[in-house]
Amino acid sequence: MPSTRTTDLPEPTHFIEEAIVEDLRAGRYDEVHVRFPPEPNGYLHIGHAKAILINWSIARRFGGKFNLRFDDTDPVKEDPEYVEAIQRDLRWLGVDWEDRLYYASDYFEQLYAWAEQLVRKGKAYVCSLSAEQVSAWRGDFHTPGRPSPDRDRPVEENLDLLRRMRAGEFPDGAYTLRAKIDMAAPNMNLRDPPMYRIKHAHHFRQGDAWCIYPMYDFAHGQSDSIEGITHSLCTLEFEDHRPLYEWFLDALELEHKPRQIEFARLNLSYTVMSKRKLLQLVEEGHVDGWDDPRMPTLAGLRRRGYTPESIHAFCERIGVAKRNTTIDVALLEHAVREHLNEVAPRYMAVIRPLKLVITNFPEGRTEWIDAPIHPEDPSAGTRRIGLTRELWIERDDFREVPFRKWRRLAPGREVRLRYGCLVTCDEVVKDESGEVVELRCTWDPESKGGRSPDGRKVKGTLHWVSAEHAVPAEIRLYDRLFRTPDPATPPEEGGSFLDNLNPDSLEVVEGYVEPALAALEPGSRVQFERLGYFCRDTRHADRLVWNRTVPLRDTWSRRGGGS
Ligand code: ATP
Ligand code: MG
Repeated sequence: MPSTRTTDLPEPTHFIEEAIVEDLRAGRYDEVHVRFPPEPNGYLHIGHAKAILINWSIARRFGGKFNLRFDDTDPVKEDPEYVEAIQRDLRWLGVDWEDRLYYASDYFEQLYAWAEQLVRKGKAYVCSLSAEQVSAWRGDFHTPGRPSPDRDRPVEENLDLLRRMRAGEFPDGAYTLRAKIDMAAPNMNLRDPPMYRIKHAHHFRQGDAWCIYPMYDFAHGQSDSIEGITHSLCTLEFEDHRPLYEWFLDALELEHKPRQIEFARLNLSYTVMSKRKLLQLVEEGHVDGWDDPRMPTLAGLRRRGYTPESIHAFCERIGVAKRNTTIDVALLEHAVREHLNEVAPRYMAVIRPLKLVITNFPEGRTEWIDAPIHPEDPSAGTRRIGLTRELWIERDDFREVPFRKWRRLAPGREVRLRYGCLVTCDEVVKDESGEVVELRCTWDPESKGGRSPDGRKVKGTLHWVSAEHAVPAEIRLYDRLFRTPDPATPPEEGGSFLDNLNPDSLEVVEGYVEPALAALEPGSRVQFERLGYFCRDTRHADRLVWNRTVPLRDTWSRRGGGS
C-alpha cells in the first residue's frame, strides 16, 4: 500500500531528495520515514538544527514520517535532563514527532538476541584482547590487521561467554563481542569491529538491567530497521561506517533495510560545536550554563532572542552539501536580524545614560506622544511616550569637541529627539573630575513630535527616554564568545581552545527603558531604536534584564554576502 504516489513527488532541492525520489520511483521504498537520533549527552546546537531540519523538511515534503530517537547506548554520559532539553528545543523549532518518540535502549533485548544470532551463524565472537591490543592489532591502511587469537573460538564457547558477559561475571574490559568480518579490509571499520563492551554502569532508563552495552554501529542500523526508517541521514563522518551499517542488516537478514545517506556537518566561524567542548565551557564556568546566550546551543540562541523562523531561514540558506565547509557566523546573525527587522516592535532604551535637562520645559509637565510600534507596519499600532523636562540620552551621542562629520549633539548644536522635539545644547555641566554629567538644553515648543516647524535642517536624530517615566533595566551586551574565526584550533601549540575565548563577550550595563517595556513578558523580542535587537531574559523573570541579540549593523550585507 504505497503511501507516497510516485506521480506527485516534489521537485528535489538537493542530492538527498534526488536519491529519495529515485528510490521511490524504483519502488525500493513506498514511503519516506526519517529520524533524528540525538545522544542525550548534551544540549542541541545549531549544527543539530541543520540535521533536524533536513530530516523534518524531507518528511514534510514527501508526506512522510519523522521519528525522534534517543541514541542512549552509552550510559556514562547520558542524563534525563538532556532528554527533556532536547525535546523542548525540537518543539521550539516546530518539529513534530507525533507519538514516535523512541529510545535505542528499548531495543536492548532485541539487539542482544540479534547478537546471539550472529554468534550462532559464526559471524561474531567473544574476544579477550584489551582495547589497546585491539587497536594495535588492527593494522593500518597499508598493513592488514592481525587476527585475534579468539577469532576461531567455537560457537558454543562464544555463546557461553557472551551469556556470562551479560550475566555480569566479568569486569569491564575483560571481553568484547566482535563481528567476524575481514581483518584485511581496506575499510578499517570492517576489521572485526566491536559490537558489545562490558560496562558496569547504571543506565538512566534501564537501571542496572545491563552491564554490556551495544556499540553505536551495532545499535544504529538495527534501530533504524526496527522503526521502519527508509532513509537514515547522517553526517559525513559516518560515510566509512556505511559498509558496516549494511553488513549488519545483511548478516541478520533483516527484511527492512534502510538506506544511509551522508551530508556535510555545519561548521560556523567563531563557534565551537563539539559537545565535549561545549560541556567543558559549562562545567568549568566559562559560560553561565548550556543556555548562556553566547552558546551556539538552541537553548542559548533562544535566550539570546533568536526566533525559530530565523533558524529555519538560516538552514535553508546554507543548503545541503556533500562537502564540509565553514559558514560565516555573520550569516546566522543576518538571518535573525532580517526576521526581527520584520517582526520586532520598536522601543527606545538608553544604555549609557547622560542626563539632558530642557531648561525651558515646565517642571512636572508631560507631553504625550504616540509613536509607531513598527515604522513599516501601521497595523502594529502605537505606544505612548512621555516627553518631560529631564531626559536620558546616550552618552555616546554627545561630544564636547565634535569632529568634522559629527551629526549628533555638541555644544551649540541642535538635534532631533526621535518622536520628541528639537533641542539645542546650551551648557555642559561637569563634575569635579571633569566628567560631563548633564547637558542643559532648550527645546523649540513648535517641534513637538520631532517635526522641524519651519523646514530647517536638523542633521542628527537621537533616541532618548524620560527620566521621570523610564524604568531602570539591566542590559547585557553580548559579543561573540570567541575572538578567532577558527576557535577550535589553539593559538599556540600546546594551548587550548579556551585561549581563544573573547574576554569581552559580555558587558553588563545599567540603563533605562521605555515604561511600556516593563509590561512585556520574558522572552519578548524588541528593537531598541538605533541600538539593536534585544530579548527580555527568561532566567531572571523577576527583574528587567534584556539580552542583546544582535546590533543593528549588518556585517553580512556590507560584505556583499546578502542576496
Ligand atoms: P557526539 O557524537 O560527539 O556526542 P554529535 O554532535 O554527533 O556529538 P549526536 O547526538 O550524535 O551528537 O548528534 C545527533 C545527530 O546530529 C547526528 O546524526 C549528527 O550527525 C548530527 N549532527 C551533529 N553535529 C552536527 C553538525 N555540526 N552539523 C550537522 N549535523 C550534526
Ligand atoms: Mg554523534
